[in-house]
Amino acid sequence: MFTHTLGFPRIGQQRELKKSLEAYWKGEIAEADLQATARELRERHWRLQQQAGIDFVAVNDFSLYDHVLDTSVMLGAVPPRFAVGSTSATLAIYFRMARGEAAIAPLEMSKWFDTNYHYLVPEFSRGQQFSLQPQKLLEELAEAEKLGLRAKPVLLGPVTYLKLGKSVEPGFDRFAHLDAIVAEYEKLLRKLDGKVQWLQLDEPALVLDLSETERDAYEHAYRRLRAAAGQTKILLATYFEALRDNLELAISLETSALHIDLVRAPGQLQEVARRLRPHQSLSLGIVDGRNIWRVDATAAMATVQAARQWLGSDRLMIAPSCSLLHVPIDLSFETQLDPEIRSWLAFARQKCQEVKFLADAAEQKIDTVFLAENRVAWSSRRSSVRVTNPSVRQRTEKITAAMSHRTTPYTERKVKQQARLKLPLFPTTTIGSFPQTTEIRKARSEFNARKITREQYVALMQESIRLSVDRQHELGLDVLVHGEAERNDMVEYFGQQLEGICFTQQGWVQSYGSRCVKPPVIYGDVSRREPMTVGWTRYAQSLTSKPMKGMLTGPVTILCWSFVRDDQPRRDTCQQIALAIRDEVSDLEHAGIGIIQVDEAALREGLPLRKAEWDDYLAWAVECFRLSTSGIADETQLHTHMCYSEFNDIVPWIAQMDADVISVEASRSRMELLEAFERFKYPSDIGPGVYDIHSPRVPSAAEIESLLTLALEVIPAERLWVNPDCGLKTRGWPETMASLRNMVEVARQMRALR
Ligand code: GLN
Ligand code: ZN
Repeated sequence: MFTHTLGFPRIGQQRELKKSLEAYWKGEIAEADLQATARELRERHWRLQQQAGIDFVAVNDFSLYDHVLDTSVMLGAVPPRFAVGSTSATLAIYFRMARGEAAIAPLEMSKWFDTNYHYLVPEFSRGQQFSLQPQKLLEELAEAEKLGLRAKPVLLGPVTYLKLGKSVEPGFDRFAHLDAIVAEYEKLLRKLDGKVQWLQLDEPALVLDLSETERDAYEHAYRRLRAAAGQTKILLATYFEALRDNLELAISLETSALHIDLVRAPGQLQEVARRLRPHQSLSLGIVDGRNIWRVDATAAMATVQAARQWLGSDRLMIAPSCSLLHVPIDLSFETQLDPEIRSWLAFARQKCQEVKFLADAAEQKIDTVFLAENRVAWSSRRSSVRVTNPSVRQRTEKITAAMSHRTTPYTERKVKQQARLKLPLFPTTTIGSFPQTTEIRKARSEFNARKITREQYVALMQESIRLSVDRQHELGLDVLVHGEAERNDMVEYFGQQLEGICFTQQGWVQSYGSRCVKPPVIYGDVSRREPMTVGWTRYAQSLTSKPMKGMLTGPVTILCWSFVRDDQPRRDTCQQIALAIRDEVSDLEHAGIGIIQVDEAALREGLPLRKAEWDDYLAWAVECFRLSTSGIADETQLHTHMCYSEFNDIVPWIAQMDADVISVEASRSRMELLEAFERFKYPSDIGPGVYDIHSPRVPSAAEIESLLTLALEVIPAERLWVNPDCGLKTRGWPETMASLRNMVEVARQMRALR
């Protein structure tokens, strides 16, 4: 029974890759320096795995930016717009595809299944040629072999690769390229024949709803790949969900082994074991690759034992559930964590040790010290007062249906709100944050390092609130915001003030490219100690007679962007957060704030991978949002904000959230999303973003006007708000002022025409 990993984090314990990449992009270091860092990280990470007892380490899981981009490059699938200039500068083209360059737009970014990792979307068009570029894989393989490691190359499989891509030509079906792409994979397989024992092909698309075409693509592709593999054994890796109706398909691809996710979908084991062909092995993804909890060794041992009885040791492999890309590297660097909470956690390195422990235990070589420690940790987690808070429990038990209902319908509320707020037609506002200047960041880091006092910090923040209010007055915006200067991050800010949530010091996880996040850890019942935003908001309101919008992050978003506890359903955790936000909403209202915005940037991200489960998720997610927001009076205007434009079928659910105003991203899709809002008769006010805040580019008044004109075709004037796509924290002040000036000007002109 051998152990393996499907992939390991790339960024480095000290985010070495991030630092190197950014230095390279600035021209501070040479390509050779960057490559040296990359090599060093690969070696270090392989050694970590080997020392933890992993038999086969993953190779080619490393990436300078993204593994889907690497696959595109490996297949020679570089869209023509990137291949300008000198063709030898491969790395320049690579980063151009990732980040764009001057007038060249980068590849689109999209979320990797239901994780917070973003990949670069492959682009397909008619007549496109492919040509294998296997250097990266072969070089990394040679590196691993030179180190004396048993290497298992990892590749994104051809069908998932195609499915994750998009056709950039209308009417072109990207699956038409299947044969051409498979041909390149075949070439690679022939090169690997005799060189490696195992090759891992990742096909997580097998856990999704598949069309007939996609199922055929699988059969066709794998028939060919099997034939080309020669002596190499293919491990078909699936993860993030159960195979369900695709189980027979996955097995019928006749690969030498199948990897399944037993953390997300423990229930599938028996059925998979029963159906597996006699020559096929099973890789048990039993240690959670997505979350930071220590494995429950006792339960996992029992699972492995059951699998062993069904299949026998020699047909089993043990692994994390998916690539460890989604967890931080090493828990031993977390010296500031509460020791009890720390004992419940495992990062990538510890997870490899868990995999090894389980493989040994299955052969009756039980590491008793490890097991005893694991049991102590688990019993502490099950009974700890840090986890269970009786007052939170009592409160959730008393939740009534009425608590998630506003008493009057939107139309009546609107009249009352208008009487109070007296807003003009086409009210102008922003999404919440204003530029996070160097001074703001400096003040925050000095305060965190205790270099300045709380009083000094508060004074500095108030200064930036005053500055942003002054500038909003100058611009003539109708609904103001305080600017969120005090917030480093929209989830972290709340997480730090909530009971039941803690933060790591170095628990970095790659979000995309060089960007990393340090997700909060929700370990126990969540509650609010004291008001979290009221002081800042009240101060901001004191500076103006215009309405000041209170800004909060919604419960679903706090949940989705955290490492969430696995000892109770996500909905229960979400409900607790909702109650904490509800108290904050109520305190803001009592402080005289007339407009409150509760952001749900991640509502859509939380959607389950299978459509059949969408309704169940949306029902509790929307319910939690309502629980957090429905305690307010009719006169208080409730806003929400979402940063994406794909609303397709979820508009009815968004309507159920019963907000008075919603702002959404819309400029990049040229207001196309509004069609869905119209189709589903979305009832209340909408602020479709009129310009993209992701670049410093200043939109012209004409551009903004043309978008608003499009919006007016579907949204009645009385329900149309005017705002940017998202918060402005990553922007500088000059372009922010220029853009907003144009935006306000257009709103004024449009009013004048009415
Ligand atoms: N209110 C937040 C901001 O303006 C919203 C951020 C977001 O939607 N991602 O920064
Ligand atoms: Zn946003």
